[in-house]
Amino acid sequence: MTRHITHWIDGKPHTGAPAERQGEVYEPSSGRVSGRVDFAGREEIDAAVAAAKAAFPAWRDTSLARRTAVLFRFRELVNAHRDELARLISSEHGKVVSDAAGEVARGLEVVEFACGIPHLLKGGFSENVSSRVDAYSILQPLGVVAGITPFNFPAMVPMWMFPVAIACGNTFVLKPSEKDPSASVRLAELWAEAGLPEGVFNVVHGDKAAVDGLLHHDDVKAVSFVGSTPIARSIYETAARHGKRVQALGGAKNHMVVLPDADLDLAADAAVSAGFGSAGERCMAISVVVAVDPVGDELIGKITERVAKLKVGPGDNPESEMGPLVTRAHRDKVASYLDAGVAQGATLVVDGRKTPILGDPGDGFWLGPTVLDHVTPEMDAYKDEIFGPVLSVVRVRSYDEAMEVIAGNPYGNGTAIFTNDGGAARRFQNEVEVGMVGINVPIPVPMAYYSFGGWKSSLFGDSHAYGMEGVHFYTRTKAVTARWLDPSHGGVNLGFPTNG
Ligand code: NAD
Repeated sequence: MTRHITHWIDGKPHTGAPAERQGEVYEPSSGRVSGRVDFAGREEIDAAVAAAKAAFPAWRDTSLARRTAVLFRFRELVNAHRDELARLISSEHGKVVSDAAGEVARGLEVVEFACGIPHLLKGGFSENVSSRVDAYSILQPLGVVAGITPFNFPAMVPMWMFPVAIACGNTFVLKPSEKDPSASVRLAELWAEAGLPEGVFNVVHGDKAAVDGLLHHDDVKAVSFVGSTPIARSIYETAARHGKRVQALGGAKNHMVVLPDADLDLAADAAVSAGFGSAGERCMAISVVVAVDPVGDELIGKITERVAKLKVGPGDNPESEMGPLVTRAHRDKVASYLDAGVAQGATLVVDGRKTPILGDPGDGFWLGPTVLDHVTPEMDAYKDEIFGPVLSVVRVRSYDEAMEVIAGNPYGNGTAIFTNDGGAARRFQNEVEVGMVGINVPIPVPMAYYSFGGWKSSLFGDSHAYGMEGVHFYTRTKAVTARWLDPSHGGVNLGFPTNG
């Protein structure tokens, strides 16, 4: 039996005409089609935006006390359904259930941050800026805002966006990845159960056509996008051309520099965890280890020992540490880098095509953890964002050479340094052209009260996601100057209003 997944518009599942186009949703561990998802056309996009637009005035004017009460209830409901959501994510994405529960937990942190919105929306007030004149600022919502999200975090990345947007008083249309669309619909149901008014949160499924519908829609005031760099760049340009506020987070190639004085066991643990967790399908995954001489051989030895023990299998098998990739096409593309890497001069230290799979591998989209050594910046395995379980090792002679490698890479999402030298770590933190930096921490995803975002080709726009940058992105400031007349007011004055 395959599941039918449809849009969520105006507080309920969409019941309009049958979709002209649908996409197949897979169970990556068996390779079978587990569901069909409706793709939105013009009509469904218009319906979702119209529902969000109609809901906006009342939601904007709902008191902060009532808005936060809904957010607190949503927080409790998501928490209570954490395991169910994790299983749903795992069944369509392939990641292991514990990892999927982790993404729900990290998304919840943003909901918790958004529960503090009354404090975050406080403006400024200056009394008596001119004689008997007060000035103050207020933060107001934008209206209908859209979120377009990638397959790799079907719950967490949408939760980087909509809790803050909705808490600020906006209404939201989410276009999640068509590869694993079910979690977003479940979240919509939980919003409804939490008492969110109809139309405040809507979900439309689909591909480029649905995205274009949102980008071209006059009633969509802002767009948050997370996905690959070529699409992020095009979304940024198109949305900006249509007069929308836009933040577009793109792809990544995250380097982990290991200095000679580092604790190599800690570094090997970190490289393996951050390289192969979620099968490397994380925008903050470590995909390049930059080993500074002379640590290369010893570090590779320790990494290889650990990789040999990793258990790969279906996401719902509690023994599995790593699941399959999201689609067959993606698995094949990732696997193509192994032979290409060798042909271009890299050494295939661990070949993930030979990894045993727990249980019946079926026709699943499997590729085990792979290590490519002696990778150089000219090779495709280095240049491309592989987005799979392939850890490349680049060997360099010095800290300065490591910095040159990172500086020469177009991406700037995350990076890490492993060292026991505080001075070196501090210099790295200061010099590196990357938005999120870990010091002996391989996946430095900022807490909800900081903001998430990369530099260079990893982000187009000037706001990072969530945290205070999220609040600023989803609001605009109004400055008010007020005079309440008292009997001594000065009468008519055609001069420019100066302060005195
Ligand atoms: P993707 O760019 O293929 O798709 C992202 C979204 O854009 C999806 O909703 C998809 O339906 C839509 N889309 C795809 N093609 C489109 C087109 N031509 N026009 C308009 N919309 C289109 O990304 P993905 O494969 O789903 O996700 C993986 C990518 O996301 C990786 O590059 C990863 O690094 C990146 N990512 C980045 C971050 C970050 O914070 N920077 C976080 C997670 C994932």
